[in-house]
Amino acid sequence: MGMLDEILSHNMEYVSTRQYESLQTDKFPDKGLAILACMDARLVELLPQALGIRNGDAKLIKNAGALVTAPWGSVMRSLLVAVYALRAEEICVIAHYDCGMGTIDATAILAEARKRGISEDVIRTLRVSGIDLDGFLKGFANVEDSVRNTCTIVRQHPLLPRDVPVHGLIMDPSTGRLDTIVNGYVVMNAEKQDEA
Ligand SMILES: [Zn+2]
Repeated sequence: MGMLDEILSHNMEYVSTRQYESLQTDKFPDKGLAILACMDARLVELLPQALGIRNGDAKLIKNAGALVTAPWGSVMRSLLVAVYALRAEEICVIAHYDCGMGTIDATAILAEARKRGISEDVIRTLRVSGIDLDGFLKGFANVEDSVRNTCTIVRQHPLLPRDVPVHGLIMDPSTGRLDTIVNGYVVMNAEKQDEA
């Protein structure tokens, strides 16, 4: 049985026995929180449990590394939609130690791509057309710097309201312990003092 069949078979059972009933809620996050977290499989259940978040409490956006690399990309758009259309009032960026994005690099990924049938021709054509494959496939050297950088891009986004704090945290992927890298309230207060 393929994975899809397995999922669909579980799904039929899940819906017909009304197991969803304990999770019913609406689309507005009860805790007014939008979270950008890493997609790491170890965080699937650990992250909400370690944060005390239940279904309906937060908007949860995930990608490799909990990264915002471009101010006009889909992750930033999701955060803005969370704030403006879905009543998120605070943002948490949550990366983790031992992250896969800390070890990847373009050379290794492209070598794998070649093995999986992506031709040298395609790679050359992409480079020639100005696609920065090395930048696109780059991980980060230091997770703390990466969290700080993402928080700065989000916080300084011209469309983010000034009263939305952006916190940066790193999770231990085995215990769920959070280390605070950026305290969004402190940043906001410092900005207010600078303006005064
Ligand atoms: Zn990760």
